[in-house]
Amino acid sequence: MRQSQLFTKVSRELPKDETSYNAQILIRAGFVDKLAAGIYTYLPFGLKVLNKISNIIREEMEAIGGQEILMPGLTPKENWETTGRWEKFDALFRLKGGDEREYALGATHEEVVTPLAQKHTFSYKELPFAVYQIQTKFRNELRAKAGLIRGREFLMKDLYSFHADEEDLNRYYKIAQKAYFRVFERVGLLDRTYLTFASGGAFSRYSHEFQTVTEAGEDTIYICDDCQLAVNAEIIDEQPNCPNCEKKELREAGAVEVGNIFKLRSRFSEAFDFYYTNEAGERKIVEMGCYGMGPSRLLGTVVEVHHDDRGIIWPEAVAPFKIHLLSLAARPDDRVSEAANKLYVELVNSQVEVLYDDRNGLSAGEKFAAADLIGCPIRLVVSEKTLAQKKVEIKKRNSAKVEFVDLDRVVRVLGNQATR
Ligand SMILES: [Zn+2]
Repeated sequence: MRQSQLFTKVSRELPKDETSYNAQILIRAGFVDKLAAGIYTYLPFGLKVLNKISNIIREEMEAIGGQEILMPGLTPKENWETTGRWEKFDALFRLKGGDEREYALGATHEEVVTPLAQKHTFSYKELPFAVYQIQTKFRNELRAKAGLIRGREFLMKDLYSFHADEEDLNRYYKIAQKAYFRVFERVGLLDRTYLTFASGGAFSRYSHEFQTVTEAGEDTIYICDDCQLAVNAEIIDEQPNCPNCEKKELREAGAVEVGNIFKLRSRFSEAFDFYYTNEAGERKIVEMGCYGMGPSRLLGTVVEVHHDDRGIIWPEAVAPFKIHLLSLAARPDDRVSEAANKLYVELVNSQVEVLYDDRNGLSAGEKFAAADLIGCPIRLVVSEKTLAQKKVEIKKRNSAKVEFVDLDRVVRVLGNQATR
């Protein structure tokens, strides 16, 4: 992508009411635009990152047997009345249609997925199975001050699993936990993300959250460093020691909830009268689990964790581009410009993801500052100085070390690095 043709600009003025670091830096660097509190547009860079995160999640959900579907965002009131949540769900956006019927904008989808699964499940032979979607969700939050971490509209992956009995639900629940940690590893959050015990619902003692330690966190957790587990502050009175090793000295930390998983058991299957016939011909209730993870919240959390005072430092797997190529040409027709153009075309032809700063009339300092702000993993510079030696300057965003590589070798070197 040529930066000269990009319709968005870096270093614009910030909205005055934006207080969260992740939204401030993502707005300045041109990843998102704020429409209203908790409501953001994803611009070209931001959408690239969001899609990469979504695809990582998608791959890990497919790997545990999840079948992707897309449910509607607009959901009829009757379904929410069936489960008793039309009144009880505080953050539900409720609205009236032209047909005088009432609807909710989907905040979660048990009310849709349970009757859907019911249409296709008759006997034990159909169980177990799991479906998921990656979809825009709406929550009527009273306050939305955490940038992408708590939006009124946000992208969510929600997976639902259906089982013949509790034992099978427990088996799958453990498999899903492992899949979640694979996602956190791939997006660069594993070393500070903890499986966290939180309050359960009517049917189970605990639910589990995945909490990433960062100063931006809205939650407080208590970590057992021996077990790499944590307890959410909301249950610390009932669970004052490590649920695994009983250790009493737990470390307090601020954290962002980047995922949560629940054993719903029969909470929703009972509401919808969702039964199946077992091998003995008996009528049995279907057991359910649900597993949530927000790509947009993950994006905000990655930024909170991976930055310095100059800007974002994207982990390679979710970076908008692997390479940021900077031309320090004095004129659009000089030999520096010509060499940088040629290198850009070669990189594109080699399937390397590259952002090319081909803008005219900016100083080297301005281009370096923009590159640091945007945060691509590798910066390449072509200038009079590097051309005099037939070389290109290479610097990684997370290191101060500057290296020089021969101009005719650079595509081969970066092709290897980019696929590593
Ligand atoms: Zn422990």
